[in-house]
Amino acid sequence: MTELTHYVNGEHVAGTSGRFTEVFNPATGEVQAKVPLASKDEMDAIIAKAAAAQPGWAATNPQRRARVMMKFADLINTHMDELAELVSREHGKTLPDARGDVQRGLEVVEVCMGAPHMLKGEYINDGGPGIDLYSMRQPLGVVAGITPFNFPAMIPLWKMAPALASGNAMILKPSERCPSTSLRLAELIKEAGLPEGVLQVVNGDKEAVDAILDNETIQAVGFVGSTPIAQYIYGRAATNGKRAQCFGGAKNHMIIMPDADLDKAADALVGAGYGAAGERCMAISVAVPVGEKTADALIERLVPRIEKLKVGPYTAGEDVDFGPVITAAAKARIDGLVNSGVEQGATLVVDGRDFTMQGYENGYFVGPSLFDNVTADMDIYKEEIFGPVLSTVRSESYEDALDLVMTNQYGNGTSIFTADGDTARDFAAKVNVGMVGINFPIPVPLSYFSFGGWKKSAFGDLNQYGPDAFKFYTKTKTVTARWFSGIKEGGEFAFKAMD
Ligand code: NAD
Repeated sequence: MTELTHYVNGEHVAGTSGRFTEVFNPATGEVQAKVPLASKDEMDAIIAKAAAAQPGWAATNPQRRARVMMKFADLINTHMDELAELVSREHGKTLPDARGDVQRGLEVVEVCMGAPHMLKGEYINDGGPGIDLYSMRQPLGVVAGITPFNFPAMIPLWKMAPALASGNAMILKPSERCPSTSLRLAELIKEAGLPEGVLQVVNGDKEAVDAILDNETIQAVGFVGSTPIAQYIYGRAATNGKRAQCFGGAKNHMIIMPDADLDKAADALVGAGYGAAGERCMAISVAVPVGEKTADALIERLVPRIEKLKVGPYTAGEDVDFGPVITAAAKARIDGLVNSGVEQGATLVVDGRDFTMQGYENGYFVGPSLFDNVTADMDIYKEEIFGPVLSTVRSESYEDALDLVMTNQYGNGTSIFTADGDTARDFAAKVNVGMVGINFPIPVPLSYFSFGGWKKSAFGDLNQYGPDAFKFYTKTKTVTARWFSGIKEGGEFAFKAMD
């Protein structure tokens, strides 16, 4: 069986903890590799190596660092199909979807080619008589990225590109379920010219994460994953004096107004609800049609579209709509939640529970399910299902629909489908959610904006990628400078306001 490694100082290094976990092929249920789980001692030693490499990288001028990003982007493009295959093999998503995963990460690398512009400070000439003030943005030192299973290329790239372009070294701890893409990206960025030790990929579980959180060298932690872990990591990192931004789970609603184009809304819901088997933090998992007639007409349009969806392994070709979920445990949890929806009184309009894939009986396939008449007290509404399950909560008015979104504990993404600009504007202005789509189902901002949710979907005060990332990965130093024309008048001891 393939034994995966860590990637330390530009080389693959075997784990020495003696602890491993299995990496499955979600389509077959077979174990395809084992991945080492780093111990605290291993992690501390690797962090020390990153600390040794970081000052040289920080002293490399920003434009040269940006050139590494240019070459890296070029290599990602050249290896797009290979990277997508790596993603699909461990995650199970379709190849076109996996290419999207790589592409949305690549776009953040592209923005980091312009990092020097983002790293400029501010300057005022003659802020006082003969006094100039200027600020600089300096790297933090060694930072860490801890990433989830569901975007094995995109999220590691969101973490590493701005952190490295800003002059930091990074410890990347990818998901132990999908570690291979990060290891390959580390090889490619080395080929692009990144000095050894500046990016270390360390595989592991809670022990490795806790070692990062307690290590004094680590200055900042960027996390993406489920809400309980995000909150835990944010708390422990902050207690240890680190900067932290921790992005968590979601329950994203789409409001469908009576004047919406219902065919377009149904198409959007099917893509956003079932794409990647619903394993996206920006998936739409709740449809909120306004008015009984809208709801009936929407369900009528959704059912045939959902029944047509093709579920299968990524190897079955490009017309598969979505693949298996990540683990047997995830499948069992999703099935359990669908059962709970039925028990708690929701109407199961499309039932995906008994789906089996011929020839892949041991794979973690879950068929698409659609619920109608869901209410806010049901588990299928309260929990992030993270599977191919769409819940419909019927709403009597726009105000009720807005209130539902506003009172949900999560605030990652949301969307409204309407033909009315006034309603759309009102929604965008009032809703307490970080990313809003108007007639657009998955409003992941482009890479020169920043990505982040509100409420229990994010802990910390800056978003990831875009301008916020450069603020997160640098600290500001401000210099007040006066050059005397000649020392004639002796020292000045009063603390004066500028005059
Ligand atoms: P997860 O929280 O289980 O794991 C994320 C990372 O945390 C992994 O690297 C894992 O090894 C580590 N981890 C897990 N348990 C830990 C523990 N007890 N202590 C310390 N570290 C631990 O999440 P996942 O299942 O890999 O990913 C799915 C979740 O991520 C979903 O909730 C999804 O909504 C969320 N997500 C959020 C965003 C976002 O930007 N908001 C993006 C993608 C995914």
